Amino acid sequence: MLGLIGTPVAHSKSPAMYNYCFDKFDLNWAYLAFDVPAEDAGKAVAAIRTLHMRGANVTMPCKNAVIPFLDELSPAAKAIQAVNTILNENGRLIGHNTDGCGYTQNLRRNGVDVAGKKIVLLGGGGAASAIAIQAALEGAAEIAVFNLRDAFWERVSNGLKSISQAAPGCKLSLHDLSDRNELKAAIDRCDILSNATRVGMAPYEEQSNITDLSWFRPDLVVTDVVYSPEETKMLREAKAAGCRTCDGLGMLLCQGAAAFRLYSGLEMPVEQIRQLLYR
Ligand code: NAD
Repeated sequence: MLGLIGTPVAHSKSPAMYNYCFDKFDLNWAYLAFDVPAEDAGKAVAAIRTLHMRGANVTMPCKNAVIPFLDELSPAAKAIQAVNTILNENGRLIGHNTDGCGYTQNLRRNGVDVAGKKIVLLGGGGAASAIAIQAALEGAAEIAVFNLRDAFWERVSNGLKSISQAAPGCKLSLHDLSDRNELKAAIDRCDILSNATRVGMAPYEEQSNITDLSWFRPDLVVTDVVYSPEETKMLREAKAAGCRTCDGLGMLLCQGAAAFRLYSGLEMPVEQIRQLLYR
């Protein structure tokens, strides 16, 4: 038994994705979605132990709330204090965060390795933190984070300090997203431009953080975490300018594949699932 913990979860595609894989690999396993508010996170984790579940995925608002009830955290989960996968290793519960691995794996599938790369990361929320820690752990040379001076700013600033301690080899900096001159200068000297803000999804559909299309150049890799719509305005415009692009759906599937690998040691057929479930 495996499951998804969080709320709302009724519309999650995770049960279909994992159950499809269990079927495909002839595993006698089952995956269900459990609607759990943050205040019940401890009870849900206790249930994993009691029912000898193999593990669970964790979504909002429980990604942080489950942490006090786990036995161990992966380096990435520890640095950003967010867990999206719990693995039960003979009664010992280990918290992982596969969002960042999903991002870097999706890049690798598109022929790009983050090691040694300079990244401009737009946003500093949950998705951005997961990307920053994983890219830093995998040897990115530099990550320049651009965020609005909104409610996230203080948290981003503190979060970057933890990431810096976990991966001291990566040069991290924080900038104001509304400073267009600084943003342009950073994009000019980076290899990968990554949107991890909510811009591109409803209610910001048909909006992009990059309004001057001359900033895109063919050797720039442009990625988005937003997966609905599948192709955001930013990706569409970057692709038209000749950039290599990686979408949020690829990242979503790859983070699922990373969790499936932890649970089963097997490789999820990512492309098949993309066609079957999401198109
Ligand atoms: P969050 O609420 O933790 O962070 C939101 C970020 O967006 C913050 O940095 C905030 O400053 C920024 N932001 C919000 N409105 C903005 C605006 N108008 N202009 C500029 N910046 C703005 O959210 P999150 O959990 O990090 O999710 C962000 C996006 O990533 C969502 O679209 C989510 O669906 C997606 N996501 C995708 C994956 C995946 O696997 N592809 C995983 C996690 C999240």
